[in-house]
Amino acid sequence: MVLAQLGGTISRALQQMSNATIIDEKVLNECLNEITRALLQSDVQFKLVRDMTTNIKKIVNLDDLAAGHNKRKIIQQAVFNELCKILDPGKPAYAPKKGKPSVIMFVGLQGSGKTTTCTKYAYYHQKKGWKPALVCADTFRAGAFDQLKQNATKAKIPFYGSYMESDPVKIAVEGVERFKKESCDLIIVDTSGRHKQEASLFEEMRQVAEATKPDLVIFVMDSSIGQAAFDQAQAFKQSVAVGAVIITKMDGHAKGGGALSAVAATKSPVIFIGTGEHMDEFEVFDVKPFVSRLLGMGDWSGFMDKIHEVVPMDQQPELLQKLSEGNFTLRIMYEQFQNIMKMGPISQVFSMLPGFSAELMPQGQEKESQAKIKRYMTMMDSMTDDELDSSNPKLMTDSRIMRIARGAGRHVREVMDMLEEYKRLAKIWSKMKGLKIPKKGEMSALSRNMNA
Ligand code: GDP
Repeated sequence: MVLAQLGGTISRALQQMSNATIIDEKVLNECLNEITRALLQSDVQFKLVRDMTTNIKKIVNLDDLAAGHNKRKIIQQAVFNELCKILDPGKPAYAPKKGKPSVIMFVGLQGSGKTTTCTKYAYYHQKKGWKPALVCADTFRAGAFDQLKQNATKAKIPFYGSYMESDPVKIAVEGVERFKKESCDLIIVDTSGRHKQEASLFEEMRQVAEATKPDLVIFVMDSSIGQAAFDQAQAFKQSVAVGAVIITKMDGHAKGGGALSAVAATKSPVIFIGTGEHMDEFEVFDVKPFVSRLLGMGDWSGFMDKIHEVVPMDQQPELLQKLSEGNFTLRIMYEQFQNIMKMGPISQVFSMLPGFSAELMPQGQEKESQAKIKRYMTMMDSMTDDELDSSNPKLMTDSRIMRIARGAGRHVREVMDMLEEYKRLAKIWSKMKGLKIPKKGEMSALSRNMNA
């Protein structure tokens, strides 16, 4: 996701500003210009960006900065708050209740990932003990019913549709009635899309909504549509009562800034994001952790959740223990690299950490990252136990570096790069010193401490 690059650019702009000896209006403006450029390049709508920088200028008091307060933190916090404000429309989406029937209607352009997302949404809730059902009211696209049927069958979710009936309203009403009778608590109606916004699409949506009276209309948007996001989202909102947004294909090379625009245009929150073609590549969307990650501030609560989710039970205490000691040795780095290479999922854990994600393992460059990690490991194979177990980089004299390079058949420069990487990760790791090992569900307090 290119949003990760946005985080990197913003962090660099903030870093450059805090390196300046005097912070005056000119330096602040340069920093904000850099941030503006980064946001525009990520396809965030121009007006949103302009409003955001105006607000930051109003909030940030230059006298405070000049007085030597932590400039980077003050501005980072202002950027953080403004991005959160854009992504938080101020009112939560309708929350269906387990055991009570809710009708959820999905709308979006053809190809946005609507049908796939309907099943993901159903599957997500089914795993949590809900009784979802799928209704295919897409009579426009040939093969839509087959696709939904196939997905639903795979996930063992009841479905309704017709090969003969061409009236989407009729199918939607019949499907909803049937599943209400069967005591389903989440009745998901997939509607038709079109290649582009057009009157017939909106008219059909309006009719289906009128007939089925959905409790929630979810607008599905492909993250790669770029600057068109705002207008597209607004057009849908003007036709039906969109109450929530799901952004798909966040795994690809899309710039992702459209998510911000869609929220602003629909005044509705993003509730999930799609991160792949598979049924379980679907994540709940939380504003604050998302923006934290975006700005390279890390997502500590997500990090702990992921540890519980993907690290095998028997390895969790050891990993957390090492984290709490805050003593990052080259051996720990080696072991974590081994985990990344072996298990794959642990890379998801570390993608939550600032630094690990954007620089060591940028999204979309997994192959290159793996090759780099492999090279680092070969170099570490040429180290002595003392070197691996030390957390003192001064131990690495020139002669040792030359010996390691020779032993691994690599250049001295590469060994130095690897040691730089170690220092960078050690700095991140040291923030976790004193970490209390929390149980699942105790993450928010921890996250507050960590971000402080
Ligand atoms: P619809 O026309 O809006 O119903 O779109 P589909 O559900 O048929 O999806 C269009 C294409 O996008 C399919 O090939 C899906 O597999 C793919 N797709 C949907 N969601 C995602 C996602 O989150 N990530 C990726 N990579 N592909 C997705």
